[in-house]
Amino acid sequence: MSINKVAVIGAGTMGAGIAGQVANAGVEVWLLDLPGDSNPNALAQRGLERLRDPDQPGLISKDAEAFIHLGNTRDDFAQLADCDWVAEAVVERLEIKKDLYRRLDSVCQPQAIITSNTSTIPIRLLVEDMPLAFRQRFAITHFFNPVRFMRLLELVRGEDTAPAVIDLLADFCEQQLGKGVVPCLDTPGFLGNRVGVFTIQCALQAAFELGLTPLQADAIFGRPMGIPKTGVFGLYDLIGIDLMSDVVQSLVNILPADDPFHAEAAVLPLMTQMIANGQTGNKKGQGFYRDSPAGREVLDLESAEYGPAARLNLPLAERAEQQGVSQLLDDDSLYGDFAWRVLARSLSYAAALIPEVGDDPVAIDDAMKLGYNWIQGPFELIDEIGVDRFIERLEAEQMAVPPFLAEARGSSFYRVADGELQARHHGGKWQTIERPAGVIRFSEKRQTLQPRNHCAVASWYDLDGIALVEFHSKANALDADSMAILDDALTQVETGAMRGLIVHNDAQHFSCGVNLQKVREFFRREDMDGLDRFLADFQNTVHRMQTATFPVVAAPVGMSIGGGFEVVLHAKQVICHANSVTGLVESLVGVVPGGGGCKETLYRWIDLLQCGEDISKACWKAFMNLGYGRTATSPVIALQQAMLRSNDRFVINRDRILGEAIKAIDDPAGQLAFERPELAMPGRPVFQEMVKWLEQSRDKGLFMPHDVKVGTEMARIVTGGDIEPGTILCEQDFYDAERRSFLSLVSGSATRDRINSMLDAGSPVRN
Ligand code: NAD
Repeated sequence: MSINKVAVIGAGTMGAGIAGQVANAGVEVWLLDLPGDSNPNALAQRGLERLRDPDQPGLISKDAEAFIHLGNTRDDFAQLADCDWVAEAVVERLEIKKDLYRRLDSVCQPQAIITSNTSTIPIRLLVEDMPLAFRQRFAITHFFNPVRFMRLLELVRGEDTAPAVIDLLADFCEQQLGKGVVPCLDTPGFLGNRVGVFTIQCALQAAFELGLTPLQADAIFGRPMGIPKTGVFGLYDLIGIDLMSDVVQSLVNILPADDPFHAEAAVLPLMTQMIANGQTGNKKGQGFYRDSPAGREVLDLESAEYGPAARLNLPLAERAEQQGVSQLLDDDSLYGDFAWRVLARSLSYAAALIPEVGDDPVAIDDAMKLGYNWIQGPFELIDEIGVDRFIERLEAEQMAVPPFLAEARGSSFYRVADGELQARHHGGKWQTIERPAGVIRFSEKRQTLQPRNHCAVASWYDLDGIALVEFHSKANALDADSMAILDDALTQVETGAMRGLIVHNDAQHFSCGVNLQKVREFFRREDMDGLDRFLADFQNTVHRMQTATFPVVAAPVGMSIGGGFEVVLHAKQVICHANSVTGLVESLVGVVPGGGGCKETLYRWIDLLQCGEDISKACWKAFMNLGYGRTATSPVIALQQAMLRSNDRFVINRDRILGEAIKAIDDPAGQLAFERPELAMPGRPVFQEMVKWLEQSRDKGLFMPHDVKVGTEMARIVTGGDIEPGTILCEQDFYDAERRSFLSLVSGSATRDRINSMLDAGSPVRN
């Protein structure tokens, strides 16, 4: 049996998201909700509209909408008769769900799989009234919000669920919906929320205990701990303070009375007050933080008044982000105390869940990495801290040491043996971590390899005869050292020692561009020659990628923007993730792309539009993309925007990108050469038209004065500038023009102001 037609019942946050992801996979899906009064499909329609939200598009392209059929549970129930999978995502009310299952049983084909998206109701209660044949094809598929972007799917099997049902769901959700499927037992809160919500609560309570401000707590409970930078108060705002309170309450209701969760779940009077005042977070424009005309503000937890949220630059946080979480535990300030309280309680809690929820650390670690975007799971964090050190400190503070943690004394939870990554199981047995065929996470593979060359910001490895270059600085920002590693790998492959090169990493983002700190160092020293050399070296390195005589594949995930995208642009093939975000956003900080990005944007538009002799249309397209710093939120859009080429491919499951990239190295047909012929440029007239357009837009109040200056430089590069129409330029001329414009902009104070404010305040000034 295979899954070719799906129905989702309930078109709220989750149901619409699930239907959207099924459509992204190119599978037909019916999205049903209760019938509306005037428009019977109004609720399903609203679900679809949420998928169209430009800030968080649930669909990878407009084309995916064609796979979604809207309906309601009164008029369209018959559509379910030939569905292979019906996913229920209605409100979290047992009786409503049970009623629905009875109706489903009477209409669905006997082999159809039925699942619930419930977060809190055990399977046995959901199907207690249903016949065995129904229970055998029933499971919980617990998706996370937003469904397109959250990688975790908890797949919960009931006592009667047939193994074939679990296998089919696991394959479909993993391969076609792109999820990291974590098998779970039917335990309260499963894995992600059980550990995730507990940890958030620990951070919240510890911050109140220690009297930390939201800014102070969020500076530590974020990137320094390897978790998203929203922090705890920012996360509360993001999820919604009212919704978070409901989630906490529902866990309180379902967890046994002796669960340590109860100690972290106390209702804080301030939060009750905030909910009553409508200060429920981002959706209401105010929570612990809010944006005001004067800038970002933060709530004082004692006075409940808002005040300026000045960015807190903590050297400790910076150190921990770069050198690891142990830095926090070595610190004897309030911040170190806060970090210890959160880590001690949450990591012990995770360890205490074994063997109740499973008998090894992998599922919990996966759940936290895929469902909560932690860089490392709880057991990986304990390994980093050191099992013995962690236990000693727990003991010194008279805290309980859970048995599974005690078993690891003198050892670790993970190890590499016989070239394989293994995990410790309950009882002390070691087992190799098994992933589905085709799934390769470089963060795991790397642990079994030695780098062939490395520095603080990048490394390259010999991956079974392929050079794999990995950037690993903060946000994977690029500098001369990262490019030197890439250059070295290219040189080694050129000798014939290896059969190709892949640029990839398993981080949240491939690369957020050139390290602006380094650019600032150049202009603070007024070292424009040094900056020119850096840009020239960058260009030479990416040019070597495009002209290599061997396969070169870029395999980016997350964001590839600015200089990071310039690296991607010069690979002979791109294998990226369906959620990859790409674009050249340099205009925001007042510079032009200086690593071949302007050149590639122009040539790609010429190819896409098949311009022939007159390339002015392509010049305009390139000018607009660069000037607005446009990004594409999916590879489908990137292809339409000439950011990717026809041979580039995307993969819906990011854990399969590296496997596909390796295959691409061995398939020369996928590699597309770069034809970069000399061009007859439109020159002066089009350049002047663009400048006029910039000035008119400024006069209408659409652009700031410096936008005009930056836009003028972009216009100059893509048209040839103040030259006779028909003047011939070659590829090197574009590289040179990029560097000239870059240097000229960085020489002025307006660009410097943008870069300074980006680095110091987190966003560029509008000047
Ligand atoms: P929601 O309130 O956004 O949407 C629920 C939808 O179900 C509504 O559109 C409602 O009209 C519809 N509905 C109610 N009764 C119905 C019926 N009898 N037939 C058809 N439709 C009906 O809720 P949600 O957040 O999407 O949650 C749905 C399920 O997913 C719940 O079980 C919840 O516990 C679970 N869940 C939620 C999240 C989350 O972050 N929101 C995450 C994971 C799981």
